[in-house]
Amino acid sequence: MASDQEIQSLYEARKSIFPRSVKGRFRNIKWSILIVAYGVYFLLPWLRWDRLNGPDQAVLFDLEGRRFYLFDLIVHPQDIFWLAGLLMIAALLLFFVTGIAGRVFCGYFCFQTLWTDVFVQVERLIQGERPARIRLSKAPWSGEKILKLSATHLAWLLISFATGLTFVLYWGDAPQLIREFFTGQAPFAAYATALFLTATTYVMAGVAREQVCTYMCPYSRFQAVMFDRETLIVSYDESRGEGEKGRSRMGRELKTREQRAAAGVGDCIDCGYCVQVCPTGIDIRNGLQVQCISCALCIDACDAIMDSLGWERGLVAYTSEVSRQGGKKPRLMRPKVLGYLAVLLVAVGLLVWSVSNQAPYDIAVSQVRQPLYVQLSDGRIQNSYELKINNKMNRPLDLHFEVSGLASAELDMGRFSHVHLKPEQHQRIMVRIKAPASKHRGNAYPITIRALPEGATAKDVPIVEHPAVFYLPGS
Ligand code: SF4
Ligand code: SF4
Repeated sequence: MASDQEIQSLYEARKSIFPRSVKGRFRNIKWSILIVAYGVYFLLPWLRWDRLNGPDQAVLFDLEGRRFYLFDLIVHPQDIFWLAGLLMIAALLLFFVTGIAGRVFCGYFCFQTLWTDVFVQVERLIQGERPARIRLSKAPWSGEKILKLSATHLAWLLISFATGLTFVLYWGDAPQLIREFFTGQAPFAAYATALFLTATTYVMAGVAREQVCTYMCPYSRFQAVMFDRETLIVSYDESRGEGEKGRSRMGRELKTREQRAAAGVGDCIDCGYCVQVCPTGIDIRNGLQVQCISCALCIDACDAIMDSLGWERGLVAYTSEVSRQGGKKPRLMRPKVLGYLAVLLVAVGLLVWSVSNQAPYDIAVSQVRQPLYVQLSDGRIQNSYELKINNKMNRPLDLHFEVSGLASAELDMGRFSHVHLKPEQHQRIMVRIKAPASKHRGNAYPITIRALPEGATAKDVPIVEHPAVFYLPGS
């Protein structure tokens, strides 16, 4: 009967996690990466850069000017495939690193981890260490509780706002944009973006935290396919920690390793420090879990306990399944990892080659289709084309155009004999191609529009050819 059955909810409410602080080598590595990442992110928009033509901001995504400035590199809309290449390289790098050392990207480099780390540190500074924070969360509402929680959330909001505002500064001249932002003169998009990022940073790093890694991040779901038995994972040495009879706290008769060995218990003194420092709130002694972001803070915690007892470190350590089972050292460079590395190097090589061989200018040709052709009073057929020319150099460019592939064809640029572009200028021009109808009736002819540099650029700037089609009546 339904009424007699126990109704069990499938929903499990989130249990708040109050990570305890820990000191150690992995924590130091994480702090160093965090300082570098924050330094780069917050300071880069303020870095000035000398350019002959163009803004003096080292990194600027100029949407209006349709250019991305990355130090000495200028990325044009036509180079957008570099972005695709960059994303591919990032994915391959992720595969390569995950194949070697599991989810270390999550534990050390991911924005979510870096920002959550700072938010937890702020919480710790205002509310105290883990026991004090737990006490405060359980305490009834009081002046102190309201004050401490308000201060924490206010500090989180300020960091979130600084994060959102900094992101906006990459899309305009930073000193000018920040002035406009605080005087109400910045574009609406700047306020909307800053507000959106403030809200998402606050929610992700302050409220959702480990839930982002566990439930929202797709990487945590598919990372397992990149793992194999030799991938480095954070793991607990069960045989050492448990002994024959399991783990046991430090009792009066269980203080030395000899006493513990005699009693059949292992080296784990069940202090729970590894669980308390875990930012995702799991117990690594239960084996590899999807929530583990490989941050190694539990290693630091356990090492600190082992050091205080004078026992060797490594009860919790980076190891692999093969080492745990057979004591064999994992091979870092194995066929799968080497495969990732090979594809990664090819992708990096291609991108570097493409960037260093960037064309000094490019042209795009589009046919005017309304009308597709016209018949002139002298009987010739005329097709019109729009040419988009983009000078990517920081010096002027003079171009002359000609057409080939069509007998007796003439390229007409109206009152211009050639095109002059300033440094970094892009321009649209209309050209008309005229050809006698009698020789070509009834066909669509493939033609080539050729740009020939003139004057000072004639010697070292290449000729660019673009295919097009010439239409005639009856085609
Ligand atoms: S189990 Fe250890 S490595 Fe995994 S998330 Fe927790 S502290 Fe980090
Ligand atoms: S920190 Fe080490 S000794 Fe303490 S519970 Fe964890 S594994 Fe056991």
